[in-house]
Amino acid sequence: MTNSKSVFRSIDAKGSGKVSVEALVHNLESSGIALSDPRLQSLRLRIAKEGSASLSSEEFEEWISHSSSLLTRVVKSELVIPRFDEFAKEIESLFNHTRGIESGAVANYIPHLARVPENKFGVAISTIDGQHLSFGDAEEGFTLQSSCKPILYCAALEELGEKTVHSHVGREPSGFSFNELTLNKQGLPHNPMINAGAIMTSALIKRSLSTADRLDYLTSLIESLSGGRPCHFNNAVWHSERESADRNFALAHLMREQGAFPDGVDINATLDYFFSACSVEVDASALAIVAATLANGGICPQTGERVFAAETTKHCLSMMHSCGMYNYSGEFAFTVGIPAKSSVSGVVLAVIPNVMGIAVWSPPLDSCGNSVRGVEFLKQLIGRFNFHNYDSLVESQKKDPRRLPHARETDHIYQAIYAASIGDVSELKRLVAYGHNLNSADYDGRTPLHLACAEGHAEAVQYLLDQQVDTTPKDRWGNTPLADAKRHDRFGIEEIFKLRKRCSRQVPQSNVRAA
Ligand code: GLN
Repeated sequence: MTNSKSVFRSIDAKGSGKVSVEALVHNLESSGIALSDPRLQSLRLRIAKEGSASLSSEEFEEWISHSSSLLTRVVKSELVIPRFDEFAKEIESLFNHTRGIESGAVANYIPHLARVPENKFGVAISTIDGQHLSFGDAEEGFTLQSSCKPILYCAALEELGEKTVHSHVGREPSGFSFNELTLNKQGLPHNPMINAGAIMTSALIKRSLSTADRLDYLTSLIESLSGGRPCHFNNAVWHSERESADRNFALAHLMREQGAFPDGVDINATLDYFFSACSVEVDASALAIVAATLANGGICPQTGERVFAAETTKHCLSMMHSCGMYNYSGEFAFTVGIPAKSSVSGVVLAVIPNVMGIAVWSPPLDSCGNSVRGVEFLKQLIGRFNFHNYDSLVESQKKDPRRLPHARETDHIYQAIYAASIGDVSELKRLVAYGHNLNSADYDGRTPLHLACAEGHAEAVQYLLDQQVDTTPKDRWGNTPLADAKRHDRFGIEEIFKLRKRCSRQVPQSNVRAA
């Protein structure tokens, strides 16, 4: 059966031979794929032209011909978050919970930021498969401010490579605030995620271009990273930034005095470029897609365009992980454990590599300059889902939305049954270490002991008996493990059972307990 035919049959649950356009769109949207997704352009145009229709299998095949691989993955629940609607509900509850937090103060060093209402709050998440959700003010514009720093760093790396870039900027957390007047022992900015470092990367990018072309390059880069969402340059913010930039000027002069810049850099033009990058206006939804592009190794999930090399994103995420949250970076890496970047506009951009990008926008900041609700939302997200970088090392009750419900239990059942069938005792031990119950049976009622007996694996049978598994479970044909061993003439296995029976009769109860 072709992909399109199986998609049709899956959506036509009642077998009526017809699928409505509404049902098709519903399937897409509940899996997080919006009809506005660039990959669905031809379907969108068709719907706009022909309206809602009831499609036969052949018509359906024609309508989805340009998006059949995406749709196949949707109906097979093969997207990275297979139950996206359930995940979205959990995010909504976190969003509502975080909304109640009212501490922090809006940045007031420029009037434009000081004017933003404190209660603005938007959350957007975009996965590496282009699934997207947003809540609250996620479509309301704000300026990038410090969240431009990962983008500037990636752009510099793409153009000049790691060696050249890092001969002008370090890669250690500074331990100071984002605009502290300080450089490292080599007279270079500590890292690209604080102001001094971003002024440096601003100096390195597209030096041969005119000022206008450099700005065009930046905005079109951001549009590519966000799957084509338009971004605007906020001229008023740029002027304000420039007028209140004594500290940034001081940092640039300090770096020039130390010989940190490449020869011939014009620090006024460099600062203007940095202010321009800070003054690009986006929204949380667009930034979540930017973060998803980083999560996806540099390929924008919604357009399939490779914007950055995978190596570039690897370096950037490493930097964000260690230095992205100003002088809260160590604490954030410990408690939340994902790469992130915050900004004075109140956005926190976070990345779960190979899974999703997140943008949380809420203007009130804490004393380190990080959005209070942004940090709290991410803490709660990590409390609920196993997204911390090292969560894979620990057994916890956290949810894994990457997996279908019960996938883990069924995986363990089949792994144990398979291990028993080939006599792999080490694998059985590993599963026990994970807390797996070796009495668990498959849908036919077959247990690991059935398989080990039927295949005659004495060591595995001995191990299972030592683990005190039930010795007389019946499969759906009424067979016990011992009956299986007899049927397949596994005399050695029968001996193990006999010996065990004899021992259990002879050994006094106290010894059994002691053992
Ligand atoms: N424009 C801001 C500044 O220079 C950028 C810093 C930030 O977002 N933390 O202060």
